[in-house]
Amino acid sequence: METRNLIAGVWCEADDGSTFDVHDPATDDLLAAVPKVGETEVVRALDAAEAVRADWESTPIPERTTILRRIADMLVAATDELATIIVRENGKPMREARAEVAYAASFFPAAADAADRLRDEAVEVLGKCVTVRHRPVGVSAAITPWNFPLAMLAKKTAPALAAGCPQVVKPAEQTPLSAIACARIAVEAGVPAGVLSVVTGDPPAIGDAMLRHPRLRKLSFTGSTEVGRLLMRGAADRLVRLSLELGGHAPILVFDDADLDAAVRIAVAAKFRNGGQTCVCPNRFLVARGIHDAFVDRLATTVSELRSGRGQDPDVDLGPLIDDQAMRKVAEHIDDAVSMGASIVTGGGRRRIAGCVDRFPEPTVLTGCGPGMRCWTEETFGPVCPVRAFDDEAEAIALANDTEYGLASYAITNDPGRFERLASRLDSGIIGINDPVPAIAAVPFGGLKQSGIGREGGRWGLEAYLEPVTVSRVGSGRGG
Ligand code: ADP
Repeated sequence: METRNLIAGVWCEADDGSTFDVHDPATDDLLAAVPKVGETEVVRALDAAEAVRADWESTPIPERTTILRRIADMLVAATDELATIIVRENGKPMREARAEVAYAASFFPAAADAADRLRDEAVEVLGKCVTVRHRPVGVSAAITPWNFPLAMLAKKTAPALAAGCPQVVKPAEQTPLSAIACARIAVEAGVPAGVLSVVTGDPPAIGDAMLRHPRLRKLSFTGSTEVGRLLMRGAADRLVRLSLELGGHAPILVFDDADLDAAVRIAVAAKFRNGGQTCVCPNRFLVARGIHDAFVDRLATTVSELRSGRGQDPDVDLGPLIDDQAMRKVAEHIDDAVSMGASIVTGGGRRRIAGCVDRFPEPTVLTGCGPGMRCWTEETFGPVCPVRAFDDEAEAIALANDTEYGLASYAITNDPGRFERLASRLDSGIIGINDPVPAIAAVPFGGLKQSGIGREGGRWGLEAYLEPVTVSRVGSGRGG
């Protein structure tokens, strides 16, 4: 397995040889020591990106998109290897890791399709010839999180390369190995030297070096709102363009016209992906009062039957949380809710898994939750379902929107009139109605309010790496 960095087309260690360790979150077993690079290596990667920028920009779009489609095919062909890496470094169940590889691969043809459709646009103006052209924004950087280590990279790298922008990627320190594997595949697929680099090391040092580099034009970040704000401040000096996909606090609204079994299935599928460690998973369960008790009862039974274990073990539904800090946060949120009057219907403790460290919280359902509780305002990032009853649709929507976040919302209902009202009134960038997985590569993914700026996916993701340039010409060009 490759563990080095790819910088300026060369696989290398840190200049001073320093490394940091990557562990399996289920066992704390050492997986690899990867380079801990600093400013010098980041500058080298960005200098190389600038050096090849003009060539990559002028590579015809069909040539670039052919390479992207090849990357997708090679990612899919390498599913076993990549999914194994994801399971080892992230902990998620193998089934989910395989789905992540397919999801990651799908961003490459989605970006390629969008790039193939790019055309100059003519604007009718009397006496002038005006066109709007799409120009690559220039050298770009990406900083990605650990919860979907391959897919988050693909979401950023595919549109960057399709648009003609070289990119330097910094994966999360917990999960750098799938990013390195993806870079190896990109090189084999024909991405020229310098167009894609992967650097690993101290996050603030790398982020600063990126934002200070005179040729960096664009940074795409997925992670916490707190770090997003910090990067936005850092980007101000040089007006680096930003795409920020930040935290979420998704509501899921369960109406009394829903089929209860379907509602529980959808809610569990939305909530428990990656053990509840996703920015789009429901954090607030709003349930119509008339079905509240029956829904909670079935939800509690279903989640208590979810099986915990190492991601590579068969039939596992929930892997470990990513680290001890994540465990502490889950316990704190449960304790805080209980101290404020919530009741534990199921869970609340930890599961011991043979041969593993203590990182497996019980799937938990809390009732009587609401404003003022930490689980109601902060992302728990764990397998906790805080539930609250509502009386009518207006109250449900008001409660759903009562958050500074606006990434995803879910609703379970069979009332067609309600579909339309929810679609226009829920304040979030992604709305899933009876759909636990509304995010696909061809459509925009991103948040309102404090959940971020910009969109990834489809042509919207491509546009994040393009600048519209207006060319207005007067005269025929024949001296008249
Ligand atoms: P999480 O809490 O989910 O780990 P973070 O926002 O801390 O979310 O991390 C997301 C990504 O941002 C990771 O790649 C991490 O290394 C990186 N990161 C964290 N802090 C900084 C920083 N100060 N500058 C640049 N990148 C950072």
